[in-house]
Amino acid sequence: MVNDQMVNKKALALLLDPEKADLNALPLSADCLPDYIFVGGSTGGDTTAFVRALKEKLSILNSPFSIPIILFPGNAAQFTPEADAVLYLSLLSGRNPEYIVGQQIKSARTIQDSHIRAVPTAYILIDGGVVTSTMRVTGTEPLNPSNAEGVQTIIDTCIAAELMGKRLIYLEAGSGAKNPVPPDVIRAVRARTTVTLAVGGGIRTPEAMRAAYAAGADIVVIGNHFESHPEELANFVRSKNLTESETSGPTAQRSADERYMRIALSEAQKALSAQEIPVGCVIVSQGQIIGRGHNLTETLEDVTAHAEIQAITAAAQTVGGKYLPDATLYVTVEPCTMCAGAIGWAQISRIVYGAPDPKRGYATYAPHAFHPKAKVTAGVLEEECRALMQTFFQQKRK
Ligand SMILES: [Zn+2]
Repeated sequence: MVNDQMVNKKALALLLDPEKADLNALPLSADCLPDYIFVGGSTGGDTTAFVRALKEKLSILNSPFSIPIILFPGNAAQFTPEADAVLYLSLLSGRNPEYIVGQQIKSARTIQDSHIRAVPTAYILIDGGVVTSTMRVTGTEPLNPSNAEGVQTIIDTCIAAELMGKRLIYLEAGSGAKNPVPPDVIRAVRARTTVTLAVGGGIRTPEAMRAAYAAGADIVVIGNHFESHPEELANFVRSKNLTESETSGPTAQRSADERYMRIALSEAQKALSAQEIPVGCVIVSQGQIIGRGHNLTETLEDVTAHAEIQAITAAAQTVGGKYLPDATLYVTVEPCTMCAGAIGWAQISRIVYGAPDPKRGYATYAPHAFHPKAKVTAGVLEEECRALMQTFFQQKRK
């Protein structure tokens, strides 16, 4: 779940402070999720109760994603074994031994007993133009990113972190920072280090997030801002997905494809729960889901109620037009001839499917049904898509 190098793609982490965050106000939905949720604050709060409530909230979404909940503790007392991992922070920018090693020793045995993963993390405070509670609590000054000497100290601290064996470097401008960590500083650190790089504090717009990724950040942490503007989370998630498809090498494309196929699988799961043949579909345009659907032929007593048809109808309503030339359609099973015809009529330019269907699939009977320029990718999460179908037919035989 949390790799050795922590991430291999650009990731978005949402930081929630147990003392301030209102879980009911968070606009989390299956198609609007960060990659990680960090839980922590510099003062306190009941972390255990909060993480439990958060898990409950995530499970209600019935999401096929399992978002790692990672502790970002301000002190040893905030540790809870309820989380999936803990950032084992050492405040390397400061000279207060209590936060370099003291709290770490206080929590060491509890963390080891809990068997949750500890990620050795260098926590580096960068001056973001405000006095933060972390500065007050730890009695340390942040490093100055606005002159050459300060930048050199930041870089040297990060090199030291890597030499000490840290697996994550976390550049922190502070909760409510006026200025985020400057992209030039991120770039300079990236040029001298290879470990996973997280950047947080003062990132209030998708543009600022993208600037951080472009400069070399692997994880962008957003938080504070969403306590007052929870609805904006979706813009960040969409913008990050766009960044992923723009920077697409084959690997990034594959990871985006798998991500959307998982959502199609969650649609297929809904069909299975309703004793329908489990096929699910989502249609994506510019990093945004514009239509989704699952097979409803039994429920509606309608042989045309296939997942793709439901999703195409929904997408046309979303965009307010019948053609979807910029869209990618993800479906768990190879489309049949009817659906391939509909996909062709809608002028969908890319089709991604999971399991092939040699008996009913379009490729055998209507190989030219799609738009002539349409591209097809087969076999994404093929095993999972096929397994769901097998489950259905096995249950039926009983
Ligand atoms: Zn069909």
